[in-house]
Amino acid sequence: MAKFYITTAIDYVNNIPHLGTAYEKIAADAIARYKRLSGYDTHFLMGNDEHSTNVEKAAREQGLDPKEYCDRMETVFREVWKRLDISYDDFIRTTQPRHVRGVQALFEKFAAAGDLYKGKYEGYYCIGCERFYPEKDLIDGKCPNHKTTPQWLSEENYFFRLSRYAGPLLEHIRKHPEFIIPEIRRNEIVNVIEGGLEDISVSRAASKWGIPFPNDPGQTIYVWFDALINYVTGVGYPESNGMFSRYWPADLHVIGKDITRFHCIIWPAMLMSAGVPLPRTVLGHGWVQFQGERLSKSLGNIVNPLEIADRFGADSLRYYVLKEVPLWRDGDFTWDLFIQRYNSDLANDWGNLFTRTISMIHRYRGGSISKATAADGLEAVIVDAIRDYRDAFERYELEGGIEAAWTIIRRANRLVEERAPWNLAKDPARAGELDALLGALAVALQHTAFLLYPVMPSKSSLIWETLRLTPSLDQVRFPEQGSLLPPPPTGTPLGESQPLFPRIER
Ligand SMILES: [Zn+2]
Repeated sequence: MAKFYITTAIDYVNNIPHLGTAYEKIAADAIARYKRLSGYDTHFLMGNDEHSTNVEKAAREQGLDPKEYCDRMETVFREVWKRLDISYDDFIRTTQPRHVRGVQALFEKFAAAGDLYKGKYEGYYCIGCERFYPEKDLIDGKCPNHKTTPQWLSEENYFFRLSRYAGPLLEHIRKHPEFIIPEIRRNEIVNVIEGGLEDISVSRAASKWGIPFPNDPGQTIYVWFDALINYVTGVGYPESNGMFSRYWPADLHVIGKDITRFHCIIWPAMLMSAGVPLPRTVLGHGWVQFQGERLSKSLGNIVNPLEIADRFGADSLRYYVLKEVPLWRDGDFTWDLFIQRYNSDLANDWGNLFTRTISMIHRYRGGSISKATAADGLEAVIVDAIRDYRDAFERYELEGGIEAAWTIIRRANRLVEERAPWNLAKDPARAGELDALLGALAVALQHTAFLLYPVMPSKSSLIWETLRLTPSLDQVRFPEQGSLLPPPPTGTPLGESQPLFPRIER
């Protein structure tokens, strides 16, 4: 069985997850679920980045030992991911022994390759970013991200010979254009590398909250070098058999565009130095920003979009961000657009197709269907939708996949209007027509649930169960190109109709 190993960035635990962090996890989750439906042995890794001066500071401010603080934050993060239906297979923490062991092993490899040396480092250091800035990159003497004045640091550190890898990196990117997507990120990275790479400092003398440098306990491994390595330690590095041989190299690192340089220059150079194969693709996604205006009575005092998951279900938040914020660009979350999308797409389109189909099956046929074929031209619509959906998901254009699923929803809803089953039901001579129509609608609904499962797992599963389909959606696989899924059972009483997405009143 082919494998698919997907990771997200691991998160600093000095703050609770926000919408931007959630967006990345939701997108990666949709991709992981899609790959499982496609029959891949999928491994989805997430985790927390715990060795940071910021984390240590946050812990001390709360009067906690950093490890104790990180334990608490693990619970907080996992709770949020659970609420959002994120189906990760493993959750790594950079304080875990499995990670520490792997980091030190990789550093031994750098040393053996002659890529580490000791030198003096002086420069402007932003604690928020955990990185040095050349003076030319500061804006009015301040960090471009944090707008704070960086510290002047001067200390003896270990350096990694990044400069050695400019040529090999360019060569790799040229041979494997899919290594960095989207193209705009690839061009950025190529420009940076062509501008020349300097060796970088990979240890800190001042910080003690981190992984000790092998054979030099006075130094701690720089948090970024520590964090990046989670992608290999998460599958068992330095063991070379078992998990590691099964899943490495990673097929997709999903990360924010602000950290592409770490993932597309430093990380592959580290792997080259250690003789470990490079990940296939790094996707640097855009940002989702939250426009916090409040304009609805029913939203009350919700100010954090994550609370939308408690109020209206995780599915509606997942749908919104995946539809409105393609991975290729930035986007906004606004309550206005959220309510609009929710009411029109979810309540009116998909919700209505579900409610009316199931209600009619109960009203006219006592709750079960006697035919289950995609009559009335629906078969071709579904076959095309599956093809377009897969094409889009394979390119990580999740919004295109959603759009493909919606062609079935729209066609099925239009069919109800055109065929007016309420009239067919009055005419006994047309009973066969009504049977065929209800069966076709059930099949259409089934396929929308299947295709939208990676995006909205909860409501899709509800539809699936209402149609009495087995096995459960996580066990179902795509049908062969040109075919449909095995149909819902005939003669079996279906579940009740219920509002899938009750309208939000302003
Ligand atoms: Zn900064």
